[in-house]
Amino acid sequence: MKISILTIGYELLRGATVNTNFSQIAAELNKMGVPPVLELCAGDDPESIKESFLWLLDKSDLVISTGGLGPTSDDITKTVLAECLGIKLYEDSEVRKNLEQFWKARGRKDIPESVFNQSLVPEGAEVIENKHGTAPGIHIQAGKGKKRKDIIMLPGPPHEAIPMLNYFVLPFVKCHLETPIFSKTSIFAGLPESTAEEKVKHLFEDRSDISVAYCASPESLTITVSSTKDKLVASTMLKVRRLLAENLLSGDNKNLQEEIFSILKSRNEKIAVVESCTGGKISAALTDVPGASAIFPGGFVPYGNEWKNKFLKVEAKTLEKFGAVSEECAAEMALNIANIAEVDASISVTGIAGPAGGSTEKPVGLVFIGTCYRGRLEVKRYLFPGLRETIRRRTVATAFNQLRMQIKECNS
Ligand code: ATP
Repeated sequence: MKISILTIGYELLRGATVNTNFSQIAAELNKMGVPPVLELCAGDDPESIKESFLWLLDKSDLVISTGGLGPTSDDITKTVLAECLGIKLYEDSEVRKNLEQFWKARGRKDIPESVFNQSLVPEGAEVIENKHGTAPGIHIQAGKGKKRKDIIMLPGPPHEAIPMLNYFVLPFVKCHLETPIFSKTSIFAGLPESTAEEKVKHLFEDRSDISVAYCASPESLTITVSSTKDKLVASTMLKVRRLLAENLLSGDNKNLQEEIFSILKSRNEKIAVVESCTGGKISAALTDVPGASAIFPGGFVPYGNEWKNKFLKVEAKTLEKFGAVSEECAAEMALNIANIAEVDASISVTGIAGPAGGSTEKPVGLVFIGTCYRGRLEVKRYLFPGLRETIRRRTVATAFNQLRMQIKECNS
């Protein structure tokens, strides 16, 4: 089954709204092993919408659109599509009743007539209930047998479109897949994708019945294995996980902060954090995990030298001789916070995230990360590529991973 996506709205073309509908729909389809073959984004004008639909229908079996189903004059998706397929619109009394109830339930008596544009449905189409808004989704089947094409129109707001994707579109796709595709995904940390590929590529060489996809971010590497043979997927993923076991996140953990949380929680241990160049991002990541207070009493952001000295007790002579961005400063901060907060684990980071502040000796991207676990200190020097945001994201992930590895080593 070839699927394409059409997202509609001038706000998308103008960059005012990030096209999250596309990425979320595509990601879900990808999980089912049928990533979209094409994507188009059209403005709210009839010509663009018509041409986009016709082009995509020519190239795929199912077109999923989002946007332009609402009550305002720029919401023209279904009118344009009905016109180009030669289908008439009629008023669906059930949808009209639901719209009236929706408005009355909110204490509104004078319902603008334009609201009822949403109850116009192309003849022969299937109405998809909107459980989170007013504009229903619409499914049209055009043609039969080998010439069959399907169009599913979803509303624009993500909180309406995505639930509809889950309760209507994905089950529809699943039931129309000639050969179901199975896939399994695992998440790894501290592992460049090229290194991962080098270690596992032999499992996929000269094989047309199984495929592998790598998706890298500054935080993690996601590997997905897909095939029409479910047992083959399971056995291959097991091999991948064994080969990359060092870097595999355990259980259902989706990121490193969840990993650190489960490791420390299972040991009834706590962590404190001192962060300079990440400005609180490590603490924020830890507190993203529900129940984080069980392991995380708190974090410090001593951004200036004064605070490093005053609150973290970094020696003035350390700051003078080596500077704040130094192995020595990271070491003192990690050790001192572990002692001050009386915790089992600590992380300290100090670095130059840029764009300014770099020098030949200490360039932008230079970061020192200190981790201390059960009194054992480790400080490492990193040189991260990228702009400020990426350097900071890499620092957070690397700090968690350094601590994760240290705890692991401590056990072995
Ligand atoms: P309604 O007009 O009833 O809100 P609609 O189906 O007409 O629904 P649009 O008017 O096209 O939808 O979009 C409504 C809002 O939904 C937009 O202002 C935008 O914020 C958001 N939206 C639309 N399309 C997308 C998209 N592809 N990704 C993320 N957000 C979107």
